[in-house]
Amino acid sequence: SEAQGQNFLQEIIEEDRRSGKHGGRVHTRFPPEPNGYLHIGHAKSICLNFGLAQQYGGKCNLRLDDTNPLTEDTDYVQSIERDVKWLGGEWDDRKFFASDYFEKLYGFAVSLIQQGKAYVCSLTAEEISAYRGDFNTPGRDSPYRNRSVEENLDLFRRMRAGEFPDGKHTLRAKIDMASPNPVLRDPPIYRIRHAHHHRTGDTWCIYPLYDFAHCLSDAIEGITHSICTLEFENRRVLYDWIVGNLIQGDRPYQYEFARLKLTYTVMSKRKLLQMVNEGLVSGWDDPRMMTISGLRRRGCTAASLRDFATRIGVSKTDSWIDMSLLELCIREDLNERAPRAMAVLRPLKVVIENYPEGQSEELETSNHPAREELGKRMLRFERELYIEADDFMEEPTKGFFRLAPGKEVRLRSAYFIKCERVIKDDKGQVVELRCTYDAATRGGDAPDGRKVKGTLHWVPASAPVAEVRLYDRLFSVEHPDRDKDKDFKTFLNPNSLEVLPNARVEPMLAQAAPEAFFQFERLGYFNVDSKDSQPGKPVFNRTVTLKDSWAK
Ligand code: ATP
Ligand code: MG
Ligand code: MG
Repeated sequence: SEAQGQNFLQEIIEEDRRSGKHGGRVHTRFPPEPNGYLHIGHAKSICLNFGLAQQYGGKCNLRLDDTNPLTEDTDYVQSIERDVKWLGGEWDDRKFFASDYFEKLYGFAVSLIQQGKAYVCSLTAEEISAYRGDFNTPGRDSPYRNRSVEENLDLFRRMRAGEFPDGKHTLRAKIDMASPNPVLRDPPIYRIRHAHHHRTGDTWCIYPLYDFAHCLSDAIEGITHSICTLEFENRRVLYDWIVGNLIQGDRPYQYEFARLKLTYTVMSKRKLLQMVNEGLVSGWDDPRMMTISGLRRRGCTAASLRDFATRIGVSKTDSWIDMSLLELCIREDLNERAPRAMAVLRPLKVVIENYPEGQSEELETSNHPAREELGKRMLRFERELYIEADDFMEEPTKGFFRLAPGKEVRLRSAYFIKCERVIKDDKGQVVELRCTYDAATRGGDAPDGRKVKGTLHWVPASAPVAEVRLYDRLFSVEHPDRDKDKDFKTFLNPNSLEVLPNARVEPMLAQAAPEAFFQFERLGYFNVDSKDSQPGKPVFNRTVTLKDSWAK
């Protein structure tokens, strides 16, 4: 229902516009930390932030939230830009780095000290957290809490100058150690970290913490609605405290929404990175990964991801979204857009004994059953063909309407054929079928009105070889990381990738451009792998099957 009507963020924005708050402006941002590739959860946030800006004639910034030098990297920045663009996010000249604000943020920190609202604390990190207490334990004042403004200014300046080793001091906001909300118990806002930063190099050895840097970056950029996930709800008071003490005039406000939680996957960059580093997947863009780049490589379209984001909606309560909804969105979009083609994944040779040797013909077929504008193409029919090995059974079970000895089937857009004989190798494996065809059934119908129950896809024996990669979900359980005592990697699906090196495809498929997508009739939606496919050596990924194979 939320997906159809207005979501709570749209309601807030419309109310703000009515009341004239922010002068009617809408300015959002998407603020990834460049410490990994973006995943489908980020796609929700991208669609939301860029979508709201677009809907209300506002702006959305791309902000690289790069305040932690240890985990961030320029490669990640590039992948983030690529993925946001691909999804349709337009930031124009509004790409910013939190690291560009380091000098300004330092100035804000000095101003807090001068106001008597921040102090340099010399407790260790462990001591700070022990003093902080938790929801059940009250906090205790740091013995350094009452340092003078002068002493604090001097120490903070010397922290910046590099006089102290990591961990020796932190700058803390002086708020309320008795607050029922532990977030307000004098949170650290700067720490010493002698580390090389991917953009500022060795200029800094103190770095602002998220709670300090984020809200002030929002303010610096003129953000109006700072949208984040629900875990930050109890930190909103801190956001307001910092902004309230340092920013005059129009200021940003934080709103929280429920993060995307998707079944059959993990969704934290830390865990995705672990799989990459341990070689459990081929990289961040492995087509089984729920990263934006993995989904794109798999053949998921940007339109289907946006549709997914719309359908899941935006709410204030956490809930699980079933992976099958994503698959449905992909399937629906591709059903509409993908040209049809034929490919045989596990080829079984068929020889049409009554078809003249050396002869061939072109048969017309349409590229899409419902969209004439996608045109027609020609299929080459020859005496020797391939069909799918599992479309034949020597002793057909009940209800098997495909090919069997003495049985007749239709070859799609071609002829009826009948299986006359089976040829086996010395191990008893069926290696070839000898068939006859009925020349009167050209196009797929018999003039005498006789019916066949099965229609098979096929390719001519001269069709090029292709590698086809079939994927299943990367994890075999719905919630691989719910049990904190169990390593999520123990739930990896051992059968998530099947490589078929000897598939045969219609000749035109071997010429298709990287990322081109097709429906292989009866088999699912496939695309040309953007990394491994080469002219003369095509590689296809199965994006999704035709039907939900997981449904009971
Ligand atoms: P992760 O834990 O996966 O590393 P993160 O929140 O630390 O995620 P950021 O790079 O900080 O990653 O996220 C950028 C933006 O994307 C944030 O505004 C965050 O709220 C949003 N985001 C991250 N994960 C999700 C999710 N699962 N659903 C919706 N939004 C998300
Ligand atoms: Mg984050
Ligand atoms: Mg993170």
